[in-house]
Amino acid sequence: MRRAEMTIPMSRKGDGTSGASQPGEINWQARLRELDASRDAMVETIRQFAEIESPSDDKAACDRMSEFLAPKFAALGGKIRFHQADRYGNNLQIDFPGREPTKPVLLLGHFDTVYPIGTLAKMPCHLSNGQLYGPGVLDMKSGIAMMMFAIKALQTWHGELPRPVTVFLVSDEEVGSYSSRAITMALAKQSAGVLVLEPAAGRGAVKTARKGVGEYTLQVKGIASHAGLDPGKGHSAIVELARQIPTIWRMNDRRQGISANPGVIRGGTRTNVVAAEATVEIDVRIKKAAQAKTLDRKLRSLEPFDKHCKLTLEGGINRMPMERTAGVAALYKKARAIAAQIDWKLEEAAVGGGSDGNFTAGIGIPTLDGMGGDGEGAHAVHEHIVIAELPKRTLLLAGMIESV
Ligand SMILES: [Zn+2]
Repeated sequence: MRRAEMTIPMSRKGDGTSGASQPGEINWQARLRELDASRDAMVETIRQFAEIESPSDDKAACDRMSEFLAPKFAALGGKIRFHQADRYGNNLQIDFPGREPTKPVLLLGHFDTVYPIGTLAKMPCHLSNGQLYGPGVLDMKSGIAMMMFAIKALQTWHGELPRPVTVFLVSDEEVGSYSSRAITMALAKQSAGVLVLEPAAGRGAVKTARKGVGEYTLQVKGIASHAGLDPGKGHSAIVELARQIPTIWRMNDRRQGISANPGVIRGGTRTNVVAAEATVEIDVRIKKAAQAKTLDRKLRSLEPFDKHCKLTLEGGINRMPMERTAGVAALYKKARAIAAQIDWKLEEAAVGGGSDGNFTAGIGIPTLDGMGGDGEGAHAVHEHIVIAELPKRTLLLAGMIESV
């Protein structure tokens, strides 16, 4: 392997390309060997990113992260723009010019993580068995590093980027993307397609469908009374809520891909008081956009069993589903063709979780998700990436930037 590498000319356009974008005309194996030589540098970059803690709810920490990333992208020739956000970190946009005056490709990612400050002390970055462990390495600091290495590789192969690229890194993906969502959608509208650097699904698959996600809170107001002296005067919010929950549970329809999970309940004050208040928080998932209205209507038409109790429903669908539209399928087909050039049978997957890809696909922009690192344990103590997968996934990303 190493010996073969030595024979590959490492000069610019060392793989014999000159802007061609058909998978068959490019020496993909030579490209892969070049990226393979950068593997240690990629790991080091990901480790650096993961060692800057950036929980979504800590603006100062997230700003530190984006201010660390910005000059690295600027060094590659990107034009930096920070979108100020009050509550969350500033969102980071980087525009790269390209040789062809085509629409840019949007590379979408996030630099926030679910891990509070101090996690690193308990969960330090470390290498083990060809895997890099650490908070956020998979979801999705490896994805950000892959963007940088793919852009760099394309510049080496072509002399400059063959087409414009917009990178958008958001600060609040893990908490609903409230500060970044409108910008993500506006950038997607100007783009030829969107590649989302979220982690791969199982067996390294890219994600061609994601469920839509919503969150509701049902609040019950009853009438309090003394449980001992005046039991008949009270109308228990807890009892009312308990009767509502089976109705909500029946909204689950596995076959249609609809789920409604009453995940958190609260209510009451003391055992000797008939409860005046109780609430339930419900996570809902839908497979198709058309299901959103029906499910929303069902939840809004819940009626109290006890007429003295009052129900109030808040919330809604935050991320519409990413459906496998013709545009999404066409991107997957391109990706599969590129992967086939290095004898990689790239699979696709439909997943239950949402990402910012839901926003871009939801407005009809071809989107391919799960383009980032491959590993396991996102949001968990064993979060890690498989180092050996980095070069080929970066190759795929570079190939997709050329051909979207
Ligand atoms: Zn993520």
